[in-house]
Formats: sequence, C-alpha cells, structure tokens
Amino acid sequence: MALMPTPTFATTTLEDLKSRILGEVIVPGDADYDDARKAWNLNVNQHPAVIVIAQSAADVAEAVRYANIEDLGVAVQATGHGISRPADDAVLIIMSEMTTVRINVEDQTAWIEGGTKWGKVLQAAQAAGLAPLLGSSPIVGAVGYTLGGGMGWLARKYGMSVDSVNYFEVITADGRLVHASAYENSDLFWGLRGGGGSFGVITGMEVQLYPVTTVFGGTMLYPASVAKEVFTRYREWIANAPDELTSSISLMNFPPIPQVPEFLRGQSFVMVRGLYCGAVADGEALIQPWLDWMQPVANQWRAMPFSEVETVSNDPKDPSIGWSTSVWLRELSDEAIDTLIQRVLPHQGPPALVFAEIRYAGGAISKVNAEANAYGNRDANLVLQMIGMAPTPEMHRNLVEYTNLIKRELTPVLTGGIYINFLEGEEKWNKTKDAFLPETYQRLTAIKAKYDPENRFRYSFNIPPVKG
Ligand SMILES: Cc1cc2nc3c(=O)[nH]c(=O)nc-3n(C[C@H](O)[C@H](O)[C@H](O)COP(=O)(O)OP(=O)(O)OC[C@H]3O[C@@H](n4cnc5c(N)ncnc54)[C@H](O)[C@@H]3O)c2cc1C
Repeated sequence: MALMPTPTFATTTLEDLKSRILGEVIVPGDADYDDARKAWNLNVNQHPAVIVIAQSAADVAEAVRYANIEDLGVAVQATGHGISRPADDAVLIIMSEMTTVRINVEDQTAWIEGGTKWGKVLQAAQAAGLAPLLGSSPIVGAVGYTLGGGMGWLARKYGMSVDSVNYFEVITADGRLVHASAYENSDLFWGLRGGGGSFGVITGMEVQLYPVTTVFGGTMLYPASVAKEVFTRYREWIANAPDELTSSISLMNFPPIPQVPEFLRGQSFVMVRGLYCGAVADGEALIQPWLDWMQPVANQWRAMPFSEVETVSNDPKDPSIGWSTSVWLRELSDEAIDTLIQRVLPHQGPPALVFAEIRYAGGAISKVNAEANAYGNRDANLVLQMIGMAPTPEMHRNLVEYTNLIKRELTPVLTGGIYINFLEGEEKWNKTKDAFLPETYQRLTAIKAKYDPENRFRYSFNIPPVKG
C-alpha cells in the first residue's frame, strides 16, 4: 500500500514524461511504488513524488526537465548505501539499471555508467590485469563513492578514487548533457571531485586503473583483553609503513546472530586488517612481527588475487539497519586509545556500537595538492568510523548521543574534520561543511550557484547556491 496520496500534477506532463523515456515512471499508488522507493540502508523511509528508473542519459535528462516544469527537487540513487536526505516530494532518479563498463587496456582506464556497482568494474578490470580504486565493499556504487572521495585498500599507494577521475558526463539542472574534465567545464569537474552529487546527475565517468593483480591482505583477530597493546603496537607499525600498505585497526563486537561463525558470535575482538600491494614476500615480512609477538585468534592475511579484495573487510551484503559516523584524528594518543577501548568494548550489558575502525590514510592521499579538487582533509592521517544498529528512532537517538560522547572525549586529538562518505542521514547533511577547507566550501557554493541556482539537487550534500 502506498503511504502518500497521488500527486496532482497535470496528467499530460506525467504522460508526456512516460512517453519520452525508455525507463519506468512510478508514482504513489502504483503497485511497485513501495518496492521502488527502498534503499539498501533500511533506515531510509522516503516518499518521492515521482520515481524514474532511468535506462539512459536521455532518460535522466527528461526526468530533470520534468522536475523543472513541476518545480520539484531531484534526488539520485544508485544503491541506497549513502543517502543523506530522504527523497520526499522529489523526482527520485534511480540509476541502478545503467551499469555498462568498458575497459580500455591500452590507456588503463574504465568508463563506468552512473549506476554501476564497484564489483562489476573490479571483475572487468581484473580480467585485463588492472585494478580500480574501489572501497571495502563491491556492492557500493562507483559514482556515489567517488563523489565523496573514495578510500579503499589501495589508497596509500594510488590515492583516493576522486583523484583518478579523468572526466564525468553530467546532466546539469537545466537538463543538458555536459562533459566535466580538466579541459571542459573545469570548475564543475573540480567541484564534483569531493563535492558529491550536488551539481548534477553523473551518467558516466572515466577513471584510471592500476596494474595490481596479486596482493597480500586480510584480517588478524586478537582477543579484546589485549586491545591496548595491539593499539600501541599498531601505532608503531604504521609510523614507518610503506605506501604499498593500507591498513586499519578496529574494535569489533560480533552480534550474537546465526550469520556470524560460532567461534566469533557474541564475542569482541581487536582486528588489524589491510592490504599490501607490493611483492607478496615483503607483505609477509611486514606481518611477521605480529605473529612473533602473539599468535592471533584467527589470521586471514594471505596472498590473493585483487579480485578477492572484499574478503579483507567482509562487509555486510544484505540491506542493513546500520548507522555510521566519522571523525578525523590527528594522532592515536594513549588517552584516545583508552577512550575507544572503554567506550566501544562492552562493559555492563550489550555494547552500544558494533564496530569502530581507524583507517590509516596519508601516503598518496596527502601528496595531492589540497587545491587540486574539492576533496578535503588531505593532511589528516587517521579516520575513525563508528557503526551501530538503529532500527528505531529512539535507538537512533541513543546511538547519536553515545557517539557524540565518544567524540567529545576524543576532542584533544580531533582535527575538526569529517570524512563525509562515512556519515549517514541527517548528520551527513548537517555537517557537510566540516568535510572541506573553508575556502573550498565557499568555492563549492559559487559553483552550485552557476550550475544549480534553484538547488534542484538538494538531496545530496548540503551545498547551498551562493552567488560570488
Ligand atoms: C557497506 C559499506 C561499505 C563502504 N565502504 C566504503 C569504503 O571502503 N570507502 C569509502 O570511501 N566509502 C565507503 N562506503 C561509503 C560509500 O562510499 C557512500 O555511502 C556512498 O555515498 C555510496 O554510494 P552509492 O551510490 O552506493 O549509494 P547511494 O545511496 O545510491 O548514493 C549516495 C549519494 O551519492 C550520489 N550519487 C550516487 N550516484 C550518483 C550519480 N550517478 N549521479 C549523481 N549523484 C550520485 C547521490 O547524491 C546519492 O545521494 C561504504 C558504505 C557502506 C554502506
């Protein structure tokens, strides 16, 4: 059953839209409306005025033009992993059927259509001995991930995904298809690389690929009782880490559910995970000091084809009620380590958080000039992501309060910045500014005023149009 009344648009306009596009147009009251408005993130409960399941760039352009005629906002969804605002009363353009991938072996590039998940790009690129800069999960959308930065297990060697884009094909707010590259609409190209989906709909992008085939990576689990020592050892380990190593340390409270292997179920661990993209023997040598110090409860570090990179994190595949927040840390002080151990591991009763991970950035990420594109926080090295389950509004409020408490306690080591890809929902919208340098944010608002003066694309990051 649809929850919203059928809107009162002139039928002719809606009929006109239907007749002009190859894809589907769904409105409240249609049998498939409730299915179509779902996101991967099950906390999202959105009621778009019109849903367009696009088949082509021309469909996207028609949908945007329709939004202009009806004076509606435009929301874009590929997978629904990273929604900031529900697409209420908007034209929601669903990109999930636009998934063509073309690999150019000679130029080492991939052309990726706007709704493609990383897994498809990964498999096509690996068949040619090449690798894209995907993140921990192959079911995340390549474009949405890249627009916010995109930090994966090759980040310290090859940088953020945003730094490997050659050009975007974009439908702008006036319904035109434009190219954005270093040579055409270079201001738009600059803003899209970090500024999110606030400036238009990306129908395709070309990214650089890298010659990565066999890698050495995985996860080691140590008992929660030695968490402090693992954290201090990790701090020393990464101090001299080569750029070929991208790694993280995390505290994990495995939920007591059947999907979790029995020996982990309901238990807490400290995990060291990552990936080394140089010679396998060098990767083994990097891990050896850990094994010499203490045998892990489980050690899954191994030589593997990069096509299996998802096994490093084993992110959930099924739609989730998880909620994520994030801050950048300047350093891993003893006090910060104590706070994390005290607040994330369970003490009395069930833990509030499922997971807290610190990824070590730096390397190629920080070698790019801070003004090269809109992506911010290049000088920050440690990004903390905290994840909990929030199936009810009350649990969501409690989770937000609890993570705010942790952030307050971590204040002495916080940079004040956020990694916007690791924020979800309202917080992503409210804290957009903190993802950027102040001058970058100002420049983004001016680019917004040029390309989207009516703020049609107001369901992505919070970047209002401000004329310079
Ligand atoms: C399990 C999991 C693992 C993750 N791992 C990582 C990781 O390792 N590294 C990392 O950096 N991030 C990671 N993320 C965060 C992820 O990159 C963001 O949530 C991202 O926004 C998801 O993009 P999407 O297209 O899949 O999601 P969607 O919710 O479909 O899109 C998110 C937003 O991106 C924009 N967008 C998407 N497609 C288009 C398009 N074609 N044109 C214009 N705008 C578009 C829209 O504004 C949309 O609101 C992870 C998230 C999850 C849930």
